[in-house]
Amino acid sequence: MPTFKQLIHDASLQCVERELPEQTALTYLVELAQLQRVDLYMNYDQEVPTDILESFNIGLKRILNHEPMQHVLGYSWFYGYKFKVNSNVLIPRPETEELVSYILSRVDEMFPNQDITAVDIGTGSGAIAISVSNEEKHIKMYATDISAEAIEVAKENAKENDADVQFLVGDMLQPIVDAKLKVDVLISNPPYIPSQEVLESSVVDYEPHVALFGGKDGLKFYRTIFENCKKIINEKSFMAFEMGWDQGEAMMKLVHEYLPEATAEVLQDINGKDRMLFVYFK
Ligand code: SAM
Ligand code: GLN
Repeated sequence: MPTFKQLIHDASLQCVERELPEQTALTYLVELAQLQRVDLYMNYDQEVPTDILESFNIGLKRILNHEPMQHVLGYSWFYGYKFKVNSNVLIPRPETEELVSYILSRVDEMFPNQDITAVDIGTGSGAIAISVSNEEKHIKMYATDISAEAIEVAKENAKENDADVQFLVGDMLQPIVDAKLKVDVLISNPPYIPSQEVLESSVVDYEPHVALFGGKDGLKFYRTIFENCKKIINEKSFMAFEMGWDQGEAMMKLVHEYLPEATAEVLQDINGKDRMLFVYFK
């Protein structure tokens, strides 16, 4: 039996050979063995138990074929919560955690201690809706997606995380219009990748294309939302979007075109890249 140290050493080399980050193997083992990193360091020279070794080798093979580690594990972490993921939902991204943080702080500023209503359009795994709802109990949260399979996953995630979110299947804002709901906060991380863009195989081969591509320039879903948002937002409200790092300028233009009375700001992610757009009506 190899020790933890030998196993990680060999597996990390294999990862590098397949152009995966070197720490992939360590991260996978930590999740699989349900260990804290420090515990692993303390046990570096111990032999790896057979059951862990077997599952590790099976999972590593898939990871070396560029299948996302989150699919191999069956879950992903987002904002401190555990989310089931599979090929029907986008794996929630770290940038989107930053969007959640900004939403929570803007809610505090604009609606301190008020009972408000929010919707997450294109909720996927439910990552945004569930995290926002659990962090801010004053919010009555709705979430929509065109994919019924995604909504199934999101419902399971809400249950597992004890979140109170109402899910609706349908095209963009339509389910909210049909239900005659008005919201104070409209959130969306829609598909925003231009349809011709070439993506890594771990993304394009394993993640749902309906979650990725946003038409020729990647902006078609924002146009739909800007065009129709007045049907569902209250007079005093804000909208929060994730977007591509190179879409800031085009997004500001769209806001001026469709919503000239609103104020808007582009916010950067932790890597200093334009990543979020907030639009305020007050
Ligand atoms: N909100 C999740 C997140 O941030 O991790 C998923 C975001 S993913 C980029 C976009 C989501 O929009 C996918 O779940 C996809 O199924 C959904 N979607 C695509 N087209 C849609 C449409 N016309 N109406 C509603 N949802 C749509
Ligand atoms: N950030 C995702 C990616 O790079 C795309 C998410 C989206 O289109 N909203 O694959």
